[in-house]
Amino acid sequence: MTLSQPARPRLVDFHCHLDLYPDHAALIRECDREAVETLAVTTTPKAWPRNRDLAKTSTHVRVALGLHPQLVAEREAELPLFERYLSEARYVGEVGLDAGPRFYRSFEAQERVFARVLAACAEQGDKILTLHSVRAVGKVLGHLERGLPPDRGRVILHWFTGTAAEARRASERGCYFSINSEMLRSPKHRQLVAGLPLDRLLTETDGPFVEVGGRPVRPSAVAQTVADLATLRGEPVDAMASLIVANLRVLVTPVT
Ligand code: MN
Repeated sequence: MTLSQPARPRLVDFHCHLDLYPDHAALIRECDREAVETLAVTTTPKAWPRNRDLAKTSTHVRVALGLHPQLVAEREAELPLFERYLSEARYVGEVGLDAGPRFYRSFEAQERVFARVLAACAEQGDKILTLHSVRAVGKVLGHLERGLPPDRGRVILHWFTGTAAEARRASERGCYFSINSEMLRSPKHRQLVAGLPLDRLLTETDGPFVEVGGRPVRPSAVAQTVADLATLRGEPVDAMASLIVANLRVLVTPVT
């Protein structure tokens, strides 16, 4: 292997807020060293240039352009900036909807922003989106079905907590599901994850929002989630790790 060929990914953390850790740059080097294929999601378009520049020479970190639904109340005015940067970004997130009690007040604005994000992605084509859908899975899927045809963009539902029927509906749309350690702690969500199609599974940490042992989880800790998924699905750990890397490769390969 030459230096110009990145090592084959060992693990996948396809939703992590690298820029919210105090050691953002070191964390990128850690992902490269550990061969953790990581999607660095962002929460505001203003964060894009710095994230993009820091990951420019990384072999395993890709950056997503985001406008987090929990920030829409204060950041809706950054939508034009999102649209301006979008042509530079293949990955989009974190975007979506949050109908939880703290954010329900901004739900109308969130839907406005999300519809615009989907329309812009559909227009440009070949984007890969990681979506937030807290208490709003049905609404998110409705927007997707109306606004982003499967041949115009691919979708990962991050921290999915919908029903089995919603999971089927999402699978029919071609959605992937990124699974984190918190999801596997809940018996209800374990049962849901046990029924998801194997060829749509990915892993994530959602760090630093998820903590393990009282500390923000780091991307390489996704190894434990792979092990837990393997147990849950009755697969050998190595096979589960390979499956997730293979799923990611299918997801990111452009359709020609
Ligand atoms: Mn997140």
